[in-house]
Amino acid sequence: MSVTFRCPDAPKSMDDCPYCLEAQAGGYDEDGKCCPSCPGEMKVSDSPEVNLSNVNAAEILAKLDLSTEDLSGRVEARDLGDFRRRIFRAWNGDLDRMVREPYTIPGGSGKPFVMTDSEGVTHIQRMGATVHYGGNSLDQIRRRLQQLDQLAQYAQENGFALVWG
Ligand SMILES: [Zn+2]
Repeated sequence: MSVTFRCPDAPKSMDDCPYCLEAQAGGYDEDGKCCPSCPGEMKVSDSPEVNLSNVNAAEILAKLDLSTEDLSGRVEARDLGDFRRRIFRAWNGDLDRMVREPYTIPGGSGKPFVMTDSEGVTHIQRMGATVHYGGNSLDQIRRRLQQLDQLAQYAQENGFALVWG
C-alpha cells in the first residue's frame, strides 16, 4: 500500500499509454496495444506527484505534526505556506530518529504447509515469501522531504490544493 501526494486541480493532458509504447517497442503486439481494451492514450496530470509507502508516509506526516490516522489529508492553497514551514522545521530537526536499518526476512519463515503433488507424493513446505525492507537512510528521508516541498511549492505557485491518500 502506498500514499500519493498530488494536486487534483492541476490540468490534465492526454498522453500515449506507456505500456502500449512498450508493447510497440518490443514488437510483441501487432495491434500496438498493451491490452485489447486499452484506448492507447490516457489522461495524466501535469502536476508532479510524490508516492510513498504507507510506513514512510506515516513517519513523514508524524514528523510534520500532521494526522496519521487514515493517511489522507488536504491542504488548501492558502495554507501551503504553513505546510512548507513544517517541512522546513522537520528538515532542520532531528531526522536521525527516523533512520532505520534495512532487513530481510527469509522466505519460508511462516507456517508449514503440506502439499501432495500430481504423483501423490507429499511435500512439506514452509509458507511465507521473502520480505525485504529497504530501511530508511538519512538521504532517503531528506529526498522525500525535498520532493514534498517541491510539490508544495508547485501547488502554492499555481494556487492548487495539495491532497494525499
Ligand atoms: Zn495501453
